[in-house]
Amino acid sequence: MRAVLFENYEQFPSLTDVPRPRPGPGEVLLRVAGAGACHSDISVYRHFKEGQPGAQKPPFVLGHENSGWVEELGEGVSDRIKVGESCLVYGPIGCGLCRKCVQGVETYCENADSLPYLAVGLGRDGGMAEYVSVPAHHLVPLGDADPIDAAPLSDAGLTPYHAIKATLPHLAGGGRHALVIGLGGLGQIGVQILRALTGATVIATDLKAEAREYAERHGAVTVGGGEHQVEEIREITGGKGVDAAFDFVGAAPTVATAAACLAQGGRLNVVGIAGGTHEFSFFTNPYEAYVTNTYWGSVAELWELVDMYRAGQIRPEVERFSMDDALEAYRKLEAGEIFGRAVVVPHGA
Ligand SMILES: [Zn+2]
Ligand SMILES: [Zn+2]
Repeated sequence: MRAVLFENYEQFPSLTDVPRPRPGPGEVLLRVAGAGACHSDISVYRHFKEGQPGAQKPPFVLGHENSGWVEELGEGVSDRIKVGESCLVYGPIGCGLCRKCVQGVETYCENADSLPYLAVGLGRDGGMAEYVSVPAHHLVPLGDADPIDAAPLSDAGLTPYHAIKATLPHLAGGGRHALVIGLGGLGQIGVQILRALTGATVIATDLKAEAREYAERHGAVTVGGGEHQVEEIREITGGKGVDAAFDFVGAAPTVATAAACLAQGGRLNVVGIAGGTHEFSFFTNPYEAYVTNTYWGSVAELWELVDMYRAGQIRPEVERFSMDDALEAYRKLEAGEIFGRAVVVPHGA
């Protein structure tokens, strides 16, 4: 079958033929409906060096945002899962036995350091292929909802959902403000989730006018870049600052902007993996403010997110690519030419 293969560190992936996977015990083989191309894939094949934190050992098939139709059940899998059923895939894979994994929070597996891979498509074969094999308990049924548009929910949806859900106590009540920095795939869905889950005024900022217009259409108030950015954001809040800030970039300037906009007792959640640092001291932060980071989300949260998708509360913005054009999806992603999420559709849209 054809697949997008990460063959070696610091090397652009190739479109190549690999053997069709067989579902192992407890696994399910999916015929892939959609596979989202994520910015972290670029870190995997472009930036990480062997042994570096986050580096995943090649070769493997990329794609950690996947949906598909059940094709074949591996040994020991319950026939509650029906062949032909349409499902979204929870990507992270932990040890399955520790106190985090048994809660479905495989992102925070206590034995992560000793595992051979991070997730489906991150260290083991992912969904940028005609077929992918995944653990059965990682499947979330999609019912009759469109599986192709759903694919980005696995990461670009689940990551903001987890961050926002953990921040809800800060946004409960009238007169609250949430700030979204970065309106790429994650930020766009983040705005929709905030609007659906909270009554807060959502303030969104991005350098691209097109992205700001998109956020406005989804109910956000937007602010551009520039030297008055922080002032403008604080002004929208009546001067008090934002109760929650979500930085989907995570670079030093964006973290600094988020921190400068924070209200007393506010929560700054760094989601983006750009690695920017921030000084946190008695004198540099509003009183009783929190700075935290969150990573991806739990399988239970993915079920909740799928409920929201099926109810029409969120809709990822998707650009579809055929398998022939899968590498073009990555080229455009690297060039900043993707608005929303690029989804590879191996069996035709
Ligand atoms: Zn990702
Ligand atoms: Zn574990």
